[in-house]
Amino acid sequence: MKVAVIGGGWAGLSAAVTAVRQGHKVSLFEASATLGGRARTVRHPALGTTVDNGQHILLGAYTATLELMHSLGISIADSFHKLPLSVRSADGKLVIHALPYLPPPLHIAAGLLGARGLSWPEKNAALRIMHHLRQNDWQTPRAATVQEWLTLALQPSRLQHLLWKPLCVATMNTPVEQACAQLFANVLRDSLGASRREAGNMLIPRRGLSELWPTRVLELARKDGLDPEGKGTLEIITGNTVHTIHTKSDADATRSHAAHPAAGPRFMLDDHPQSFDAVVVCCNTPSAARLLASLPACPGSRGFLKDLQAFEHSPIATLTLLLEQAMSLPAPMLLLHEDRQRGHYGQWLFQGQGAERRLMHIVVSDAQALMSMDREKLASAMVEQLGEQLRHARLPPIGRRALIVEKRATFLAVPGLKRPANRTPWPGVWVAGDWTDTGYPAVLEGAVRSGRDAALQMDAQLQQRP
Ligand SMILES: Cc1cc2nc3c(=O)[nH]c(=O)nc-3n(C[C@H](O)[C@H](O)[C@H](O)COP(=O)(O)OP(=O)(O)OC[C@H]3O[C@@H](n4cnc5c(N)ncnc54)[C@H](O)[C@@H]3O)c2cc1C
Repeated sequence: MKVAVIGGGWAGLSAAVTAVRQGHKVSLFEASATLGGRARTVRHPALGTTVDNGQHILLGAYTATLELMHSLGISIADSFHKLPLSVRSADGKLVIHALPYLPPPLHIAAGLLGARGLSWPEKNAALRIMHHLRQNDWQTPRAATVQEWLTLALQPSRLQHLLWKPLCVATMNTPVEQACAQLFANVLRDSLGASRREAGNMLIPRRGLSELWPTRVLELARKDGLDPEGKGTLEIITGNTVHTIHTKSDADATRSHAAHPAAGPRFMLDDHPQSFDAVVVCCNTPSAARLLASLPACPGSRGFLKDLQAFEHSPIATLTLLLEQAMSLPAPMLLLHEDRQRGHYGQWLFQGQGAERRLMHIVVSDAQALMSMDREKLASAMVEQLGEQLRHARLPPIGRRALIVEKRATFLAVPGLKRPANRTPWPGVWVAGDWTDTGYPAVLEGAVRSGRDAALQMDAQLQQRP
């Protein structure tokens, strides 16, 4: 069958690879010139080198992503720095390390007990909330925000400030006052609470995000090497924004539907010459809503579009510094203490890839407050912050710097958000993306699982057609 996938982010690519392996002829349409969507490598003119659009971390629990990469012949060991769970601040005052030689969950408990920078009551409170979560099968009070849940669980305010708030903002890109406690608990379940120690590891890409696996899909697609049985094919069309989806022609559709009621409609995209048996829409919610609104209304379609329009988004900013001399950090990622009054917005510092250890990235999640600020002043204040907090070495002179802001980095993960499943009210049309009902906030693994699941469901339904 012929399948159109719209969007070449991690969800779209995952859907495309899965559909090809089910034996379909897939055409993937991507608006931008490169694949990867919100997790891609870009050439930055101010830096004169390629960098990712934002630092990404994966978890050992991201099984769908790791399996997909493995199936594409990519070595996981060569692709990531694998770190046991740890939090270490740049000033060295807070150090928490899971103890890798102890079995889960003791490795976390022992890590918390041995943490530097937390008082005994704070360690006790952290252990208590973890124990409580585990006992309650990782369920939090219904519709609670992270802040409400932390208050209810009597977490001391210094512990909230030092640990829970930075972790929540980093994983959900949503401030604790708004973030959904249940989604945060799901992230904790798969990291701190993982029963397999490997699952709790943090994976930091060693290569650019596009190179991790999206370009491998392109390479295999060109060689027709994605489907071992040789039936499925993938055509990738970049630089092509799709504006409308329509059924072949109303008259044709009615006639063919009358002749074969189970045949289903055929779809056309803008004026593209081909028609398709099914479409998987893998764009972000505003774009998906616009595309789906171009289809004829059907029962349930208005409510579906309304749910998509209810999503709000939150930016992430990344300040990249190209240093004049190499500098090694004591860990691939370090926690920075934020002080927004002083313009010290940096939350995490990452050692960049390549460039002889001269690249550093300072990440600011929940970055709405930065949007109206003077970027030069902002960058200078964050460099000052780094100079103050980095204790292990003096920051070398900075040759170049660039601030990349992703305005719609992720959706705001608030309680009660209605996240759709892959199936839509339009027969023959599926959706995929990190915003579908994945049980995760907006993360790569959610995108990959969603793409895979949409393609499997689509295949199951296409198999039933005559
Ligand atoms: C700065 C930043 C940091 C992040 N950090 C992390 C992290 O550490 N860990 C983590 O797991 N996740 C992180 N995320 C989230 C992660 O990047 C996303 O969850 C994931 O990339 C979403 O993939 P997707 O395929 O669902 O959507 P997208 O990547 O948005 O893909 C949608 C694609 O559709 C294309 N498109 C849109 N409209 C059309 C159209 N009409 N026609 C054709 N193409 C169209 C777009 O160009 C895009 O390529 C981060 C995101 C950002 C921005």
